[in-house]
Formats: sequence, structure tokens, C-alpha cells
Amino acid sequence: MPELPEVETVRRYLQACLPGQQVAEVTLYRADLRYPMPVEELRQLPGQTLAAVQRRAKYLLLTTASGPTLLVHLGMSGRLFVEPAAAGDAPERRKHEHWRMRLQGPQGDQWLRYVDARRFGSLDVAAEALRHPLLAGLGPEPLEGAFDAQVLLQACSGRQVAIKQVLMDSAVVVGIGNIYASETCYRAKVSPLRPALSLTLQQCAELVRASRGVLEEAIAAGGSTLRDFASGDEKPGYFQQRLDVYDRKGQPCHRCEQAGVVSAVVKAVLGQRATYWCPTCQP
Ligand SMILES: [Zn+2]
Repeated sequence: MPELPEVETVRRYLQACLPGQQVAEVTLYRADLRYPMPVEELRQLPGQTLAAVQRRAKYLLLTTASGPTLLVHLGMSGRLFVEPAAAGDAPERRKHEHWRMRLQGPQGDQWLRYVDARRFGSLDVAAEALRHPLLAGLGPEPLEGAFDAQVLLQACSGRQVAIKQVLMDSAVVVGIGNIYASETCYRAKVSPLRPALSLTLQQCAELVRASRGVLEEAIAAGGSTLRDFASGDEKPGYFQQRLDVYDRKGQPCHRCEQAGVVSAVVKAVLGQRATYWCPTCQP
């Protein structure tokens, strides 16, 4: 599943090739993905010029110069392709291609095509994207200043739930997926199973710092999802980031090993998600 770093990688790719392009034509091959698509609004789209590609949580926001914003979610398996378009020519529909747009402008003629085998993705149109029901209740972005130690401490206050589940709660902070939550707890030297209310302000500060480090490194590496995923042009959109604990059950903890201590990574299922940590250096 594309996680925040993969979506950010796609955003950067689209931001490099879409702004300034005008929508010439929209083709829908079905009326719904995860949710029904706004067929009428999408029919009104030709003539609009794409202004910027932004991201909120795992939603891509394609803003237009004077009109609505397109909200695209890649779901479990969605991929976007931008391809040069030959004049008067339309490529064959790809397997699992659900919508496409013909674009014209300074980048030449292009196709923007959405392919999604499992159809958990979505496409919507909003006059004010940030007020869209899917976005309105979201917590702060993890890479922005609004997510800080105080905010996390407040979110932990009075909660017996495991800290990893707080980190994965999109009302607290968006985009820290399962892999990154385990890695964040490792870096902060906090057990992912710790009851949230037991954390200190200092530990919250460590967790905030660790989450930024993990996500920024993943973005720098192009994202690190374990599933097949491409950004745009069929080149892999990610490279496997070095993971310290995730999927390393029974293997030596890197940090303990460096300190000359023998300790193996353990695994538990928490909230139905595989969770990994070192019981020695993550109390
Ligand atoms: Zn350790």
C-alpha cells in the first residue's frame, strides 16, 4: 500500500510535469472506485488549467487555476502514469485503467492515466479541498511544525492504548503507517506497546523527532512500501529503505549489537498489525 513517503514521491513527480497543463478531455471507464466518482463535475473539468499538485495525508490535491481541486487517493494499489500523447491518438485502455485525462500545454500533449487493480483508490472534486469530509477531521502533517511534543503528549493524555496506535491514529497525526510506526518507536527507544499515558514530554519529543527522521529518509529513498508500486513512468517509485526492526523478527537488534549486547527483535500483533521492537533497548 502506498504510504505517505510514496504518495509524496508521486506528488513531486506530478508537480514536475502537470502545472500549467490544461485539461482537454476526461474519460471515465466506470462510475465508481472505492466511492462513486462525481461524473457531472468531472465532465465540467475540460478547460481548467492545473495549478499545483499538493498533498494532505495520503491524498493528492490537483488544484486548478480558477476552479475546483481534484482529490486523488491511490488506495491499496493505485498508480498514476503521465505519458506523452501523440496528436489525435488515444492509447489502448490498460488493464485496470479506470480514468484518464488528456492534457495540453507547455509540456506538450499528455495523458494522465489512473490504474488500480484493487479499486480502493478514489477520485473526487471539491471546491474547498481541505473542507472535504475525507480531509476535514485529519490531524497535523508529521513533517510540519504543527505536530510537536506537546501535541503528542496531549493526544496520549489519559489513554491506555499502546503508543504505536496513537502514532497511527490519523486524528492525532496523519501518514505514520504501520512500518513507520514500528521504526519510529525503535528510534525513540520506546516500546510500541507502552500505554500512551505513561509517556513523558521528553519521550514525546523523541517520538516526534524519530517520526520525521524515518519519513524524511523514506521520502529521500523514494518511499519504502513492501508492495509493487511505481510513480508515473513505470520506474520503481521506491527503493527499500534500511529498516531497523520491521520484518526482522529473531534477528539481532542493530543498536544493541553496536553496544555489544545480544538482543533479538520480537514481534507481536497489535490492533491486527504486525509490530516489531527490541525488548532490551525499547523499554
Ligand atoms: Zn536493542
